Amino acid sequence: MIIILRPGIDKTHKEYKKIEDFIGNFSGVTIRLIEVEGETRTVSEMHLIGSTNTIPEDTLEAMPGVERVMRVSTKYRQIGRHDIDVVPIGFEYQGLRFDQDSFHIFAGLCSVDTYEHVEEIFKTLKELGVVATRMGAYKPRTSPYDFQGHGRSCLPWLFELAGKYGMKVIAMEVLKEQHIEEIFEELERAGKPTGIMLQIGTRNAQNFELLKAVGSQNEFPVLYKRGMGITLEESLNACEYVTSEGNRNIVFCLRGVKSHLGAPHRNLVDFAHVPVVKRLTRLPVCIDPSHSVGTKDRAPDGFLDIFHASAQGVIAGANMILVECHPVPEKALSDGPQALLMDEMARFVEDTKIVRDAYLRRIEASSRHKMG
Ligand code: PEP
Ligand code: MN
Repeated sequence: MIIILRPGIDKTHKEYKKIEDFIGNFSGVTIRLIEVEGETRTVSEMHLIGSTNTIPEDTLEAMPGVERVMRVSTKYRQIGRHDIDVVPIGFEYQGLRFDQDSFHIFAGLCSVDTYEHVEEIFKTLKELGVVATRMGAYKPRTSPYDFQGHGRSCLPWLFELAGKYGMKVIAMEVLKEQHIEEIFEELERAGKPTGIMLQIGTRNAQNFELLKAVGSQNEFPVLYKRGMGITLEESLNACEYVTSEGNRNIVFCLRGVKSHLGAPHRNLVDFAHVPVVKRLTRLPVCIDPSHSVGTKDRAPDGFLDIFHASAQGVIAGANMILVECHPVPEKALSDGPQALLMDEMARFVEDTKIVRDAYLRRIEASSRHKMG
């Protein structure tokens, strides 16, 4: 059960205390207060956990301080929409807004290699007006003999460069709790010139201890990548592990699912699920065309498959793109074959703008029809 409080009511008000006392009459029910940051106001929600069946909704609804009471299924308790008009989960980070209406491109290296390559990418992104990037310092590799990432050692110069070129946020995968601490410490030491979005990779999609670790801190938002070999439902439940620990600043990323039926793409592109995740949850949705497509194959119309797949996600309302690029892909230490070149990156940004604009026009046209 979720009790939505009236604007301005929080823990300090007597109305809150009254509701709390009332709930106290029902044994086995605990309250978790959650602040949901909406576009226009912050909404406080009391989430009741346990056996709430006997709690009378009408009595609660009539209490001062209560705006609305909802019975929700236990499924996707926090991230879910529950078929009602609730405030979408959104957040502000480093001056950027992330919600189901916002839109950002995060472009960069699969794995950080050299200072020069990172600088060249940041320079290009700055020219293109892109203020967010992706940089892998800790890499989960299929083979233990493959490059595992520079780890902590590259963070000082990476953060310094990000600050120099105005990168506001870096999406960076973490493989264990210690990596969060390392990032935190190095960011502090560097004077916080940039921000970090902690990425949970597809291989850790059900690493519940790691999910709890990113969920129990509030310094960094989380980019959760769908598990490549599990159901969408299982991936969404995994996100609940993050939010149930307290961190609700989370973006859900579609990155393709493993299936030989996806061939010749690396994974089966799953961007038709953009509207599905937006409908089932209140989370902003990201797409990763690089790991979905995984090749630089080109369609007869001249566009790379990566462009086409990305456009499919954007035209369906994606809120973020995570894409890999490299100035010299043959020198990349991982995923070179799918990296966009710098001039391709410029075309990608231009093409994405066209498609995003088309999506906004679709929305505008559809609201005109509703009004008419
Ligand atoms: C990545 O984005 O660097 C990555 C490894 O992606 P995924 O976890 O989706 O394979
Ligand atoms: Mn990669």
